[in-house]
Amino acid sequence: MTERVGVLALQGAFARHVEACEAIGVAAHEVRTAEHLVGVTRLIIPGGESTTMSMMLDRNGLREPVAAVLADGMPVLGTCAGMILLASQVEGGRSDQASFEAIDLTVKRNGYGRQNQSFTMSLSTAIFDEPLHAVFIRAPRVTRVGNGVEVLAELDGDPVFCRSANVVVAAFHPELSADRRLHRYFCELS
Ligand code: GLN
Repeated sequence: MTERVGVLALQGAFARHVEACEAIGVAAHEVRTAEHLVGVTRLIIPGGESTTMSMMLDRNGLREPVAAVLADGMPVLGTCAGMILLASQVEGGRSDQASFEAIDLTVKRNGYGRQNQSFTMSLSTAIFDEPLHAVFIRAPRVTRVGNGVEVLAELDGDPVFCRSANVVVAAFHPELSADRRLHRYFCELS
């Protein structure tokens, strides 16, 4: 099957994800409506503002279609706000924001605090030989890891990169570094 990645492009850091996929030879396009999901074999939910993205999922009629492809087991990568939108529980969310509950994690919005709203670090992982250069921007903090979740990297004892079946989440922004290993890992997941 020829892979085609759909990058949810309602708000936030979607453009660099499209570029990252194309850089590793995988076709990708922006998803703003349900029609844009046709032909998509993998989905990326980018960073940005989870409250705004949640509202726009409803406005653009994408909530149900995205929930349906996730229920079908389509591989999905959620980064930062995307991680919040895939988590089963969100702390510090707005009362009107809703997540897809695709991975059994509790995440706390902006959980790395004000003084650390943005930082970069060299992050060792369970799957890559060399550390990743990880960019954290007002990142969510994982406060509970549930069933079936494999922790692929931790920061000070807290998971920041996890997988559960076809769902991969990162608290950081892999699209903002030139390193394409995480996108390749996601695109090769089967
Ligand atoms: N703090 C943002 C939110 O709650 C996420 C930040 C990001 O995606 N860089 O949605």
